[in-house]
Amino acid sequence: MCGIFGVFNHKSAANLTYLGLHALQHRGQESAGIASSDGNTIHSHKAMGLVSDVFDGMVLKKLSGYSAIGHVRYSTAGSSDLRNAQPMVVEYAKGFLAIAHNGNLTNALSIKKELESYGSIFQSTNDTEVIIHLIALAHEQSTVERLVAALRRVEGAYSLLLMTERELICARDPHGFRPLCLGRLGNAAVVSSESCAFDLIEAEFVREIEPGEILHITKDGMRSVSPFERVRSTFCIFEFIYFARPDSFMFGRSVYSVRKALGRELARNAGVDADMVVPIPDSGIGAAIGYALEARIPFELGLIRNHYVGRTFIEPEESIRHFGVKLKLNPVKDAVKGKKIVVVDDSVVRATTGRKIIAMLRQCGAREIHFRVASPPTTHPCFYGIDTPTSQELIASSHTTEEIRQFMGCDSLEYLSLEGMKRAIGEDYSFCDACFSGDYPTSLPSANNVQLFVKRHA
Ligand code: SF4
Ligand code: MG
Repeated sequence: MCGIFGVFNHKSAANLTYLGLHALQHRGQESAGIASSDGNTIHSHKAMGLVSDVFDGMVLKKLSGYSAIGHVRYSTAGSSDLRNAQPMVVEYAKGFLAIAHNGNLTNALSIKKELESYGSIFQSTNDTEVIIHLIALAHEQSTVERLVAALRRVEGAYSLLLMTERELICARDPHGFRPLCLGRLGNAAVVSSESCAFDLIEAEFVREIEPGEILHITKDGMRSVSPFERVRSTFCIFEFIYFARPDSFMFGRSVYSVRKALGRELARNAGVDADMVVPIPDSGIGAAIGYALEARIPFELGLIRNHYVGRTFIEPEESIRHFGVKLKLNPVKDAVKGKKIVVVDDSVVRATTGRKIIAMLRQCGAREIHFRVASPPTTHPCFYGIDTPTSQELIASSHTTEEIRQFMGCDSLEYLSLEGMKRAIGEDYSFCDACFSGDYPTSLPSANNVQLFVKRHA
């Protein structure tokens, strides 16, 4: 997963991008980068770590120019590597290119193999680099035409920003898996994965980039083209369930409202007699509020999250190991002791965290624990840019709900059904829900390639 942000025509382009990336930090904490253009050349800086660690005043000063794009990256440990940090910046026959990508190309590996057989040399294990090679190989006149030619070859999910010395181009794949929206700040155009970044820089939300749309921004204005064949929109439902920030607006809806609606639907279908509703913070909060309102059961913060535990935390010593989830979450003993609790989470992937939380709550004297999940059982892996594990690690792909309940150690366990989720989202349901239904909206590469791809790119 990743977050992308761009600015065109503002004297503080890199500084605004820096702020925008802060608002998108939840979409990726592995690396951060900004590329800026002064009209003649592209400057860039990227490094491993959080936005606040990667940039300081000195670095930002060097990122001069009136346009900039930025990226925050999420990846698992395997390929957590500076070579894969973005924006990727190259100089080719036609000049400079900087690219920032959110999503996952499902046929990147086969294209890469084909290009390597002709002698192409790749610098990263990043699927985005495939797009750069395809642009460089294209014979079309303009950057937009070369990008379109490149994108005709790729399949899967992309929301991307492409910057040259004098252009900013935004593109969203025809299915529209990942969000991307357009804003305005005075005479400047801004683009962001999520609208919450506009609020921070006091930019006005204009609209979402449409699935399949390519928006070309230059000094002369904006031009929009939709060169690809129309297909069914399949926005990623998981953005609503877990990934996006609740204060963002995407796919025509408020993320917070959708989370509450999912919780309300869950309460209607999986109600239980209880003293309180407790969310697993932060991602379970919206659904838990909806559940509590619908069920008329008090909402309590029975679990407190420590926000300062970094992803790179190292267990200090063998003898005092296995703090695990306790580092991040701690029950409020006084609130939960002797109580019948409904615990609400956004989703269950491996069920190992839920199991530990339930054990902690029991240790604190909770009388009954009823676990409620505001999405259906996660049974299938994602190939479109969300870092879900392989099928074998998804507990619901091989276990019944009763088996999972036993593993987690709760008194009852219920999920929102697929139909319940669709009801909660309401009319115009045009979403990818493959991780719950197995109904993938695009063809996928052969099983072997998928495994290899997941290993190298996850
Ligand atoms: Fe989103 Fe799941 Fe579809 Fe991936 S498979 S795009 S996580 S809904
Ligand atoms: Mg969670």
